[in-house]
Amino acid sequence: MFRIGCHLSSQKGFLAMGEQAVLIGANTFQFFTRNPRGGSVKPLDLEDIEKYNTFAKENDIKYILAHAPYTLNASAAKEYIRVFAKSTMLEDISRLEYIKGAMLNFHPGSHVGQGADVGIELISGMLNEVLTEEQQTVVLLETMAGKGSEIGGKFEELREIIDKTALNSKLGVCLDTCHIYDAGYDIINNLDEVLSEFDRIIGLSHLKAIHLNDSKNPFHSQKDRHEKIGEGSLGAMGIAEIINHPVLRDLPFYLETPNEIDGYAKEIALLKTMRK
Ligand code: FE
Ligand code: FE
Ligand code: ZN
Repeated sequence: MFRIGCHLSSQKGFLAMGEQAVLIGANTFQFFTRNPRGGSVKPLDLEDIEKYNTFAKENDIKYILAHAPYTLNASAAKEYIRVFAKSTMLEDISRLEYIKGAMLNFHPGSHVGQGADVGIELISGMLNEVLTEEQQTVVLLETMAGKGSEIGGKFEELREIIDKTALNSKLGVCLDTCHIYDAGYDIINNLDEVLSEFDRIIGLSHLKAIHLNDSKNPFHSQKDRHEKIGEGSLGAMGIAEIINHPVLRDLPFYLETPNEIDGYAKEIALLKTMRK
């Protein structure tokens, strides 16, 4: 089954997101757990969540993806930023426990000059403090473009975080096609090789979701600027190969392309025509 959706606004709650997803031909969606620039959250609306869970079951929405705020940086040098990262993560996980099929994606972090080794230590340290045996929610490390001091632009860094996290059965990876192409993994000319490398270093069993984006910048630019499907350096042919690849095709795909809702509806329709 082709599981495809896009990023939606969570302003009106879970049922509204589910209904909007179905309306635009999607069967999954992504949303921010709170303002992407950080901040506090509204109390959970349990009635809305109950209605959403029923709606999701009826409409075969098996997974959804929550995205942590961009300001969450577990590998920051400043302690108050690391404290915010940990408390946000704890709160987001506990809230997602109420929602069927939710996974939580986050940017591993930026080491801000402390070095990748220190950053990786801090990120796995945070994960060791927040993950519990009891939680249902799987937490995903996003593959990054490697701009600035970002951690996660190399598969080896994600592997190290996973290795240093005790409860790593609760950890997965979300592969962002724009990011890894910008990071220097040539998924356009060598998709098979990149996926073998992913398997060798991280293990394909950890791969849980795909952020499906084209890129505004050329290969290995380390920039991270998303483009509409088919209008960037990945191109429609490359995207078609990705959504049909036997290793990837059963994963949920999430568009984070520069679109409003009608643009997303068109991209989803286009991707369905490209799906074999
Ligand atoms: Fe992201
Ligand atoms: Fe992404
Ligand atoms: Zn991005």
